[in-house]
Amino acid sequence: METRLLIAGEQVEGQGSSLAVENPATEETLAELSAASEEQIDAAVAAAREAAPGWAATPAAERAELLHEVAARLRARTDELARAMTLEGGKPLIENSDEVGWTAAAFDYYAEMGRNFAGRLIPPIESTQLAMVVKEPVGVVAAIVPWNYPLLLLAWKLAPALAAGNTVVCKPSELTPISTLMLAPCLDHLPSGVVSLLTGDGRVGERIVADERVDCVAFTGSVETGKRIAGRCAERIARINLEMGGKDPFIVCADVAGDIDVAARGGAWAAYLNAGQVCTSAERFYVHESLFDDYVQAFVDHTRSLVLGDPLAADTDVGPMVSAAQRGKVDAQVEAAVAAGAELVVGGDSGGHDRGHYYAPAVVTGAPADTDLLREETFGPVAPIVPVRSLDEAIELANATRFGLGANVYTRDLATAVRCMRELKAGTVWINDPLTDNDAGPFGGFKQSGLGRELGQEGLEAFQETKHVHIETRIGPKDWWYPYGGGGPPHGA
Ligand code: NAD
Repeated sequence: METRLLIAGEQVEGQGSSLAVENPATEETLAELSAASEEQIDAAVAAAREAAPGWAATPAAERAELLHEVAARLRARTDELARAMTLEGGKPLIENSDEVGWTAAAFDYYAEMGRNFAGRLIPPIESTQLAMVVKEPVGVVAAIVPWNYPLLLLAWKLAPALAAGNTVVCKPSELTPISTLMLAPCLDHLPSGVVSLLTGDGRVGERIVADERVDCVAFTGSVETGKRIAGRCAERIARINLEMGGKDPFIVCADVAGDIDVAARGGAWAAYLNAGQVCTSAERFYVHESLFDDYVQAFVDHTRSLVLGDPLAADTDVGPMVSAAQRGKVDAQVEAAVAAGAELVVGGDSGGHDRGHYYAPAVVTGAPADTDLLREETFGPVAPIVPVRSLDEAIELANATRFGLGANVYTRDLATAVRCMRELKAGTVWINDPLTDNDAGPFGGFKQSGLGRELGQEGLEAFQETKHVHIETRIGPKDWWYPYGGGGPPHGA
């Protein structure tokens, strides 16, 4: 297990507080490592600052080659990286192998975009002029990420930030640092200091965020932490890009009566993928009343067929949750809903596992609208299903939260699809294909789910400063200068 940080091109052991990484499937300690000390955080930021001018001046085509090489090295290490992510995070191995592939794809995507876009030409005020919008690197970027997709969510920041010519200090979650530290050999062809890999909890994150030499903080995590980071950055007007929590709705329309099984399987996957620990997990199902009973039945039957077990095993569908604390939060929300009159139709126990943070995928019906299960992020494998009388009601309920990350709809009706597309307040609206990411499609949230976007062109521009350059090719006075009292320009143009 890799325990060394990467600072100024050197792999070194952390010198800060100790950090035990747990295997959530067994509750055994997987590795003991140390967080970055204050001196090490300082050294990483200093190295990033020092490397910034050289990296910014490196031709974009050269940077592209280096980023394609990162992608190639990632792919060559798919098995070991996927295994490490499985051991520290509990996500099934097959999902982690996919994650490595998507991580590499993000590097390839931004390698090309970075050498293809540095601004645009705009019409000048006069024909003797040249006017440009020039995109420049922001400088030093901090990338602070959670545990649910440790490499992918890092790549969505690291790849565009590097492609745009920034240097980056990375801090993975304290729950899943190992796979990130294992990236060092994928990055050692980059100039020293261009990327640093640090470890530690929120205190390390806080210190990085407070550092005046960090120009931009790109964060994925909870709303609470994101608000805190936004506050700290506002004090010095540091750039921020925030990807935070969600409470995504999943609407099943009356017209899919012939496709109930597909809509139920799609819903179960959207609710239970990575044990429901996806920022865009479907967490509220609004199903037309004409289909409700059949839909719940199909959902429950499918849920019973899923294999909850060892995330390293090939036939496992759902692994353990990441931690006891996370599992406890889910348990508490479901128990409170049941106490308020809801029915736990299936799941909600440990699925027969006496070790590991297993939570059997659950279906809940009858939860009152004011319970946390229908209002606050759950981040666990629970599908609360609610009947609705109309599309109006479904859209109104879907929009009635402080979140706005993603939204799913099943419909065959074009008018319904277009209406949902227009009226749902969410950064991504998926129609008939839940949760599919596209590197070219900007990803992020409305309302408290985020600020800014990752992926797509927007994901590159998040790491670029914008400069307007106005060039007059002839030197001469302008007739709108002083004196206003007449007499014309003092010199001929
Ligand atoms: P978290 O906010 O607790 O931690 C996220 C990261 O921030 C970790 O690296 C953590 O160490 C660090 N951190 C904590 N306090 C900090 C502080 N004061 N200053 C700087 N850094 C600090 O979130 P988590 O529990 O790791 O992740 C789960 C959350 O992430 C969920 O709310 C989920 O919705 C969200 N998430 C969002 C997206 C998205 O793209 N919108 C994707 C995945 C996860």
